[in-house]
Amino acid sequence: MNTTKTALVTGSNKGIGYAVAHELGTQGFRIALGARDDARRTDAVARLRNDGIEAFGVALDVTSDASVAAAAATIEREAGRLDVLINNAGIGGRTDDGAQDPTTMDLDVLQHVLETNVFGAIRVTNAVLPLLRQSDSPRIVNVSSNMGSLALQTGPQMAAYAPSKTLLNSITAQYARALSNTNVVINACCPGYVATDFTGHNSGRSPEQGAAIAVALATLPDNGPRGGFFDDAGPIPW
Ligand code: NAP
Repeated sequence: MNTTKTALVTGSNKGIGYAVAHELGTQGFRIALGARDDARRTDAVARLRNDGIEAFGVALDVTSDASVAAAAATIEREAGRLDVLINNAGIGGRTDDGAQDPTTMDLDVLQHVLETNVFGAIRVTNAVLPLLRQSDSPRIVNVSSNMGSLALQTGPQMAAYAPSKTLLNSITAQYARALSNTNVVINACCPGYVATDFTGHNSGRSPEQGAAIAVALATLPDNGPRGGFFDDAGPIPW
């Protein structure tokens, strides 16, 4: 059996996803770099390889059943199994014209955000779960946000984005229950407020810093926590 572990990171052509891919690659994982745009994916794979990381590109739009099914087939062909899944791909959604004020909510924005941030994570997870089950120590990390914490209610008001992460957290707990008798360990994390295109680079926190908690959860021991929500400081209130 091939001992090199393979990690799929969705939306990893840039931002936190790329930093997670780079760090896991540096730690010895073979990276399945999931990205929807051909040129951006090819470029990101080349950048990882330039840094000595073993990587292959996986065409992946998390909102498309066909794309996700094809991505799972690509990983099976390239690697035979999957050891780590990082559900990182995510969008904030439009906020102009009160699109994310609940009293004037643009339901198309809500639908698009949920389709990407929640349905996308479920779609990808279920497509690759058979490959994860072939690993000795499968790990799933859902990249969430403390904006999804009902207890904290932090960050700007974004009535599509924040609830999408609340739902992602809840789904994470449901998966943990469903997988409790297996070796598949699943958790959610918050990277903190990180300088990426998503935030207009309006932060002093680097993608590498933001990636650290996802990498830690991706490399948990078998007896590590399950179904939790963590940042660098520890558990985050739901
Ligand atoms: P980013 O730089 O905008 O990167 C987002 C990534 O997701 C890009 O690679 C993008 O691909 C990809 N993506 C979007 N829709 C996709 C789809 N339908 N299929 C496949 N890939 C798709 O954002 P980021 O800041 O790194 O955010 C990464 C994750 O961290 C998100 O889940 C976000 O909610 C979460 N997060 C970020 C922060 C923060 O402060 N930045 C805080 C808390 C949580 P394209 O290049 O093709 O658009």
